[in-house]
Amino acid sequence: MAFSDVFDTSLIHDAVERSVYARTGDVRDALAVGVQTLEAAAALCSPAAGAMLEEMAQRAHASTVERFGNTVALYAPLYLSNHCVCTCTYCGFSMGLDIKRKTLRIDEVIREARTLGQRGFRNILLVSAEHPKHVNAEYLAQCVAETKRIAQYVGLEVAAAETEDYRKYVAAGCDGVVLYQETYDPAIYAQHHLGGPKKSYRPRLDALERAARAGVRHLGIGALLGLADWRFEALALFAHARYLEKQCWRSQINISFPRINPSAGDFAPAQPVGDAQLVQLMCLFRIAFPTAGIVLSTREPAALRDALLPVGVTHMSAGSSTEPGGYAAPGNAGEQFQLEDKRDVDAMSQRVRELGYEPVFKDWAEMRSAPYPVAAP
Ligand code: SF4
Repeated sequence: MAFSDVFDTSLIHDAVERSVYARTGDVRDALAVGVQTLEAAAALCSPAAGAMLEEMAQRAHASTVERFGNTVALYAPLYLSNHCVCTCTYCGFSMGLDIKRKTLRIDEVIREARTLGQRGFRNILLVSAEHPKHVNAEYLAQCVAETKRIAQYVGLEVAAAETEDYRKYVAAGCDGVVLYQETYDPAIYAQHHLGGPKKSYRPRLDALERAARAGVRHLGIGALLGLADWRFEALALFAHARYLEKQCWRSQINISFPRINPSAGDFAPAQPVGDAQLVQLMCLFRIAFPTAGIVLSTREPAALRDALLPVGVTHMSAGSSTEPGGYAAPGNAGEQFQLEDKRDVDAMSQRVRELGYEPVFKDWAEMRSAPYPVAAP
């Protein structure tokens, strides 16, 4: 049994319909019981809840401080390759686009990781486009192992894989896998994923369960906001997160809300998501999943990131580049999309402190050693 066996989009569409008619009393009832069900999540997506954003934000803030304190973990993405065999309408790496293509050699990966290490990062997310010839499981495992010499936490945001390959990544030191479904609506998914392995909706939907089975400790989920109705994506994401929380209980769940940014393909989102809706989404997930990490990337502008930090964000990228080799030797390959927050890590850390938070570069250390030493009798 996998999530794709139980996920029913008609239930999500029904919940979206009910959400539109939810009243203030429904929102208060949902808040009172802790948003465990799809019904309660639908109430928090409603226009009525949208009118109670201040109250929801305070609740989300209190929940975050209780669990995570006034801290935010800073991480950096390290792009390995922009060679891609997939055609995704919204992506600047899509096959056929005329950009400079590059896959980093292992020595270049090490140079990028060292550059990030010198800037203070100990949490690095390795990101890659999909190309079985340039970016196979052995290459990725080697990239993880080399980066692990520099960073305490190494995550992967790469093609959906089989359990056997996830095991290779875990053996190399991989701590987390990030895999956004992009959109949970299968018909809209088909409209935007036109070629390559990513065209298959269902194997992607179940990939994080395979990763958890292989021993991946942190699972990153999200939807690319702007492709479909935001309430549908929110409620589908809620159902997925609840499922993973129950079925993959050994793993920590991290949730992200990436909005589509301009890319080399000049893609315009069909259903753009506004700032207020983004805040509502973030509040909903923080309240519903008090122990989950909430990730906010440099896709969003600096002022908005600053404003969202107290709402429930636990992880932020900083000083990012979406170009393979873009830290140590920029200008030699195409970028995936334009970043909005261009502050470097020092400026970001200073701003985080000004906002009353402590920037954290290392919040994770793997224990692979033997059991605790036993005192001699
Ligand atoms: S979204 Fe991923 S798979 Fe699709 S074109 Fe971009 S890099 Fe390739």
